[in-house]
Amino acid sequence: TKYIYEFGPDKTEGDASQKNLLGGKGANLAEMAKLKLPVPPGFTISTECCNHYFDLNGRFPDTLEEEILKAMANIESHTGMIFGDPKNPLLVSCRSGARSSMPGMMETILNVGLCTTTIPGLIKKTNNEWFVYDAYRRLIMMYSDVVMEKAEQIHPKDGMGIRLNLEMMMNNLKNDKGYDNDTDISTEDLKALCERFKKKIRENLGADFPDDPKEQLMGSIGAVFKSWNGKRAVSYRRIEHIPDNWGTAVNVQTMVFGNMGDTSATGVAFTRDPATGDNKFYGEWLVNAQGEDVVAGTRTPNPLNTDTKNSQNKHLPSLEESMPQLYKQLFDIRNLLEAHYKDMQDIEFTIQEGRLYMLQCRVGKRTATAALNMAMDMLEEGTIDERTMVCRLDPKILDDMLHPIVDPDAEKTAVKVAEGLPAGPGGAWGQIVFTAEDAVQWAKSDKNVILVREETNPEDIEGMRAAAAVLTARGGMTSHAALVARGWGKCCIVGAGALKINLATKELRVGTRVFKEGDIFTLNGTKGMVYQGQLKMKDASENVRFKAFMAIADKYRAMQVRTNADTPADAMTALDFGAQGIGLFRTEHMFYGADSDKALFLLRKMILSKTHEEREAALEELFPFVKEEIKTTLQIMDNLPVTIRLLDPPLHEFVPQSRENQQEIADALHIDIEEVFKRSEQLLESNPMIGHRGVRLGITYPEISHMQVKAIFEACAELIKAGKKPMPEIMVPVTCNEKELAFVRDIVTQCHDQTLKTYEIDALPYLYGTMIEIPRAALIADKMAEYAQFFSFGTNDLTQMTFGFSRDDIGSFMNDYIDNAILSSDPFETLDQEAVGCLVTTAVERGRKTRPEIKLGICGEHGGDPESVVFCHKAGLNYVSCSPYRVPIARLAAAQAAI
Ligand code: ADP
Ligand code: MG
Ligand code: MG
Repeated sequence: TKYIYEFGPDKTEGDASQKNLLGGKGANLAEMAKLKLPVPPGFTISTECCNHYFDLNGRFPDTLEEEILKAMANIESHTGMIFGDPKNPLLVSCRSGARSSMPGMMETILNVGLCTTTIPGLIKKTNNEWFVYDAYRRLIMMYSDVVMEKAEQIHPKDGMGIRLNLEMMMNNLKNDKGYDNDTDISTEDLKALCERFKKKIRENLGADFPDDPKEQLMGSIGAVFKSWNGKRAVSYRRIEHIPDNWGTAVNVQTMVFGNMGDTSATGVAFTRDPATGDNKFYGEWLVNAQGEDVVAGTRTPNPLNTDTKNSQNKHLPSLEESMPQLYKQLFDIRNLLEAHYKDMQDIEFTIQEGRLYMLQCRVGKRTATAALNMAMDMLEEGTIDERTMVCRLDPKILDDMLHPIVDPDAEKTAVKVAEGLPAGPGGAWGQIVFTAEDAVQWAKSDKNVILVREETNPEDIEGMRAAAAVLTARGGMTSHAALVARGWGKCCIVGAGALKINLATKELRVGTRVFKEGDIFTLNGTKGMVYQGQLKMKDASENVRFKAFMAIADKYRAMQVRTNADTPADAMTALDFGAQGIGLFRTEHMFYGADSDKALFLLRKMILSKTHEEREAALEELFPFVKEEIKTTLQIMDNLPVTIRLLDPPLHEFVPQSRENQQEIADALHIDIEEVFKRSEQLLESNPMIGHRGVRLGITYPEISHMQVKAIFEACAELIKAGKKPMPEIMVPVTCNEKELAFVRDIVTQCHDQTLKTYEIDALPYLYGTMIEIPRAALIADKMAEYAQFFSFGTNDLTQMTFGFSRDDIGSFMNDYIDNAILSSDPFETLDQEAVGCLVTTAVERGRKTRPEIKLGICGEHGGDPESVVFCHKAGLNYVSCSPYRVPIARLAAAQAAI
């Protein structure tokens, strides 16, 4: 197998289409090289090699070393430098790069090849001793951390890790000698520091920092492979549902140096503003620095140009001002890359002694608002067509656009704590915590937390995920954590320099004010403002551009999108979001909640009735309430289909619990309270979810179904008389046998005919159908379809019964299933296509065989999950139904599925 693909000005083997094999970074480096951009030459070791490396239990495939040496020789002949040569040494970086970008989650090692024999040569060649020792100390820091400690899985004795140890040594040196910046450290001090680093490494890790370039190279390559299974990378994959078997590529690339003095620099830029989507070149850079300094957020970076100036960096010179010619070259590259990729790019560059080099480009992460604005702009500019535009907005992040912002009125009078950079959108409030672990813990006990950190660190990934918002004292808009937050649409403010964090006391000082762990802050991530206390939130206002976008998306959609609405209020919200009907109206919901005292009382009376007569009497009292609720909903949904489900939950759920309520029922039924206890007890079941519920209630007590169906038809009749057009769909839940459907259908037909007579009308259009939520029903869908005019897949119960997982109890073990990669995601969130999906497609096929025009939809939570929506489209369903706030997500996902 060929493992290595070269790239560079002279020879490039891959291109942007080969992300699976070369990883995103490698594929795009190859593409940029093909575009004749100044890419330092190098080669990519494929993701396939990474997988083979793991198959061989962490050993390189036999042919790899030879291939590496050959590729290194090619770089040497292109650059005229030689790896390990004492006079003219070549240095390289070893960079990770998976198929889809995982910013900062894996490892990269720079300056590989520096050792006691090559150092003097490089000093002589560059005439810059400071630079060489700065590069050396970086190599030692990265290598000892990534290769010697993490890849070897050495657990630090002092709990701190070698990286922190070395960082502390460097900080102490800076403090002792009064150096403000890394660049102030003298050459002599750097030299001594490197020696002390090596000694510390020997002490703590029990091994010497390798002085052999080839050993460094091979060690780095193996460690980058291993970083695929590092803690942060694994966490990130779980969150993003990235498969474990993709593996990472390794890019070995000629080093270029941004730390060679005042004519050298490094930076990160976006071809458009990733926060707003504005068509402005946006970026940050640092003079005399290496790439990691910008992305790690350790120094406040300079603005790229006037468009990029903000409150934190406005005093610092921009690249446009400092190096106008190079800025212009970069600006031209920006235009070229956008025209080529037809999408916003995130780029990394380095300037070595006045020469520009391109080190990375990839499709840039962006906020939902930015994604929307850029897609619409590019459509209007004629860069992309409608279909492409529709696919540019990730349905998952749509949520954020519809999510709350800080109420501008509340903000006017709020007490400001600090100001930082608006790295992630929207508003959020929460209690402040200072470590990722605390954020995870507090969030577990249902607290809203804001994770406050000195700087953004990829190790904090789980804490960032758990927190409602992230706030940091240092770092810029292009730091890794800012990228991650933006990708998730998480409210995030970075670089709030006024914050002085004391981790030991878990306190935060701002001037003379002191805040403690647990204090509440509110963040406006769109403006970068931090406030004291909990401010009022507001739904994001109507977004005109969003509506225009969705109107275009709707043109391409094949499936209808309905909503699951239990109340008239839900139905109104869903209509605003573009719902085309109700896919699930749960009748029992009118009995929950505070306003339903009377109805609930009557329901209880019915449930605790003993004789048929008692029950009939109670049902008659209940009837007007049910009819009214259904009528209001049908009226709101005039002209649109409304699927009304007959009573579903086990009756015991409604049995009164308090003494007071029990006495009330006893009085109403003229029975003793002891009798109420007795009757309640009889309703107890050991497995209520697979007990006496759904259609089974209607079989035992046909009068209950009768009352509901009659309420539906009479509501319709009254609406029809008032000139409306109700479209009810009567749905029977929890069926497993076609005879159940036959049984209930008789009641339905009888009520229908009776209502026609009573109201003296000619027609009462309706559909009769069932939920498919028991595997047996799916498998005999051909028989079910003899009675059912529609199926609605209740994938919550269908998942529960297919897996045998109790929905209400999965909390105790689901994480173990995910952590051990037994399941790639929670099947209650994302439909299990393998088995549950197979039941759905089977039922679709068998149902259509009996009744070709049968209407098919889904009403489980999955109806609002983009991946599951795509599945529904492929399965040929007519509609999906989801909660009101998910309607836009489902509309977009359905449009993308059809493109
Ligand atoms: P990540 O995937 O975490 O962004 P990268 O592989 O891009 O990691 O490397 C981290 C930083 O190191 C980048 O900012 C990049 O600019 C710098 N870097 C990587 N390779 C080189 C190189 N050959 N020369 C100079 N800088 C480099
Ligand atoms: Mg990078
Ligand atoms: Mg159900």
